[in-house]
Amino acid sequence: MDMQLKDKVAVITGGSVGIGLAVAQALAREGVHLVLVARQEERLAEQGSKIAADYGVKTLAVAADVSKAGDIEKVVAETTRAFGGCDLLINNAGTGSNETFMNAPDEKWQYYWELHVMAAVRLARGLVPGMRQRGGGSIINNASICAKQPLSYEPIYNTTKAALVMMSKCLANELIKDNIRVNVINPGLILTPDWKKTAAQLTAGTDHTADQYLDQLAKDLTPIGRFATPEELADFFVFLCSPHASYCVGSAYYVDGGWLNVVA
Ligand code: NDP
Repeated sequence: MDMQLKDKVAVITGGSVGIGLAVAQALAREGVHLVLVARQEERLAEQGSKIAADYGVKTLAVAADVSKAGDIEKVVAETTRAFGGCDLLINNAGTGSNETFMNAPDEKWQYYWELHVMAAVRLARGLVPGMRQRGGGSIINNASICAKQPLSYEPIYNTTKAALVMMSKCLANELIKDNIRVNVINPGLILTPDWKKTAAQLTAGTDHTADQYLDQLAKDLTPIGRFATPEELADFFVFLCSPHASYCVGSAYYVDGGWLNVVA
C-alpha cells in the first residue's frame, strides 16, 4: 500500500532508540524526512546518519531535553530552518517512574508533567503554525496502556500519561478545522532495549535469564502471551500518520496484545 507520505517531514521526539527509532525507520521507509530529537547527542546523530544512508531521506538530529521550554524552542527553530516546518509530529519521548505518593516530592511530579504533557503542548504551539501553512498534518502522542490501566509502582507515570490522552483529545478538537489530525497511541508491552536492561538487572544472580523473565511477564499479563517488537508498533504509527487514516481524529488506540482488561 502506498502510504502517501513521500517527502513529508516528521519531528520525532525520543527518536534515537526503542519505539521512537522504530517509528523513524518505518517513516523513512515511506520517504519521510526526519527531525530526530533526544538528549544524548552522539547516539542520536549516529542513528540519524544511519537512517539517511539506509533510506535516502534527509535527517536532522537536534539534541534537546523536551522537558525544558528553551530546548523546545530550539527544536522548533531548527525544524523551521532546515525544512521550513513539518507535516508530522510524534511526541514519543518519555520514561517510566517508580515511587509512592508518600515518598515522591513535588519536583518529581513536575518533571514528568513537563516531559509527558508540556513537551507535547509546547511542540504543538511551536510547530502547528507551520503545519497549517503546509495545508495540514498529523500529530501522534505516544501515551501508554498505563493511562487507563495503572501499574502499581508508577503513579506519576500513570497520571501524566492519562493527562496526555486528555490533552490529545482537546488538541484534536481545536486543530481538525486546520486539517491537522491529533491521535494518541497507548502501547502495551513493547520489547525495547530498556526492557532488556531492566530484566537483566532483575534476574542477575537468580536462576532465571532475562529472556525467561520477559517471556513469563508477557504470559502473565497479556492474552497474546508475548511482547510486541517496536517494528510491529511502528507500522501502526505510520498508518495513523497517513491519509489512509483520514477519519481518525481525537482517538486513543491500544496496541497491547489484549492486555487492557476493559472494553475501551
Ligand atoms: P526508551 O527508553 O527506549 O527511549 C526513550 C527515548 O526518549 C530515547 O530516545 C531517549 O533519548 C528519549 N528521551 C527520554 N527523555 C527525554 C527528554 N527529557 N528529552 C528528550 N528526549 C528524551 O523508551 P521506549 O521506546 O520504551 O518508550 C518510548 C515511549 O513509549 C515512552 O513515552 C514510553 O512511556 C512509551 N511506552 C513504552 C512502552 C514499552 O513497553 N516500551 C509501553 C507503553 C508506552 P535520550 O535518553 O538520549 O534523551
